[in-house]
Amino acid sequence: MKDDTLVVQAGRESQKNQDMVNAPVYRASTVLFSSLKAYHAAEANKRDPSYGTAGTETTFALQNAIAQLEGGTQALMVPSGLAAITTTLLAFLSAGDHVLVTDAVYGPTRRFCNKMLKRLGVEVTFYDPLIGAGISALIQENTRLVFTESPGSLTFEVQDIPAITKAAHAKNVLVVLDNSWASPLFFKPFEHGVDISIQACTKYISGHSDVLLGSITTKDEKIFDTVYAAFHNLGVCVSPDDCYLAARGLRTMATRLRQHEAAALKVATWLQGRSEVAEVLYPALKTHPSHEIWKRDFKGATGLISVVLDKSYSYEAICQMIDHMKVFRIGASWGGFESLILSFDPRSVRTASQWTKTGSCVRIYAGLEDTDDMLRDLEEGFVRLKKA
Ligand SMILES: *Cc1c(COP(=O)(O)O)cnc(C)c1O
Repeated sequence: MKDDTLVVQAGRESQKNQDMVNAPVYRASTVLFSSLKAYHAAEANKRDPSYGTAGTETTFALQNAIAQLEGGTQALMVPSGLAAITTTLLAFLSAGDHVLVTDAVYGPTRRFCNKMLKRLGVEVTFYDPLIGAGISALIQENTRLVFTESPGSLTFEVQDIPAITKAAHAKNVLVVLDNSWASPLFFKPFEHGVDISIQACTKYISGHSDVLLGSITTKDEKIFDTVYAAFHNLGVCVSPDDCYLAARGLRTMATRLRQHEAAALKVATWLQGRSEVAEVLYPALKTHPSHEIWKRDFKGATGLISVVLDKSYSYEAICQMIDHMKVFRIGASWGGFESLILSFDPRSVRTASQWTKTGSCVRIYAGLEDTDDMLRDLEEGFVRLKKA
């Protein structure tokens, strides 16, 4: 089946749910058993729910849908995208191990590596996101994982995932991908060699800015067992209400993403023609340095764009531009229906690769509003920026 059909059908087993279209919210801590032996059997097989922490049919319906869309064997829901990242890293890394992390990684992932993993005795090396097959030279005897995120948070370097997975697998190292930007629709992680794919379901899957949720999908059962053990030990269980909302959002994701893509492409193209803009960081643009890899590996582009302005503006000038916008609102978590804008500074977080561009940076998220209204809002913002 094609993705548009899967998005609608995957994980729905109406016969289990009184023929309802949507799996209802099953709330449970305690699960009852007909015999003591049945209870102990469920407990021994850690995957059968003997307790609500493992989830209910509401959770399983969403897990099954996400696993199918990503193209993996099984998926697990955890309380946030960040929890999906930290649970995965804790599942595989022990004191004395080494992990390679892309330098363009989502900020809180970097923070977790620097603060918690290092404290636990894990060695962390950040690498240039564009390293490709060169990752091989950084793999040590004790390297367990390569963590990738493509395109990179804020700066949009598209990683050569097939080259990285090939080099890592040659040395028995697993590759994790934060696949949140592309969603399971626009990048198929397991077709490109990834072992574990993470979604911040808070973003496009939920799609309505009111749910926090993450998913971890694995290539095979063996990897799943390791992730599941960490999930089970950490107690990172999720609310069935949140799973219900995420499943509800998922059903329209293909339609929403097509509109986000069209809007973002229109906004990105318009931005390229502006004198206030030095560079638009959006991989679907032919001028983007990673465009060829994006075209080779991805099925589409989503709503997030970064812009490098023509020069370094004062913080006050950037505030003048952004504070008075009417369509693009100030907020962090993209993936919802509403447009967003923020400024950022990539120089402050890089350690393995240098950010040499000098213009101020702005991140724009194209929501589902009318694109003419978006362009007018940006144009008025640029007028305020120039005047400030
Ligand atoms: C938002 C985001 C996350 C974290 O998701 P939360 O649910 O907010 O914790 C992880 N990775 C990327 C790339 C993100 O944009």
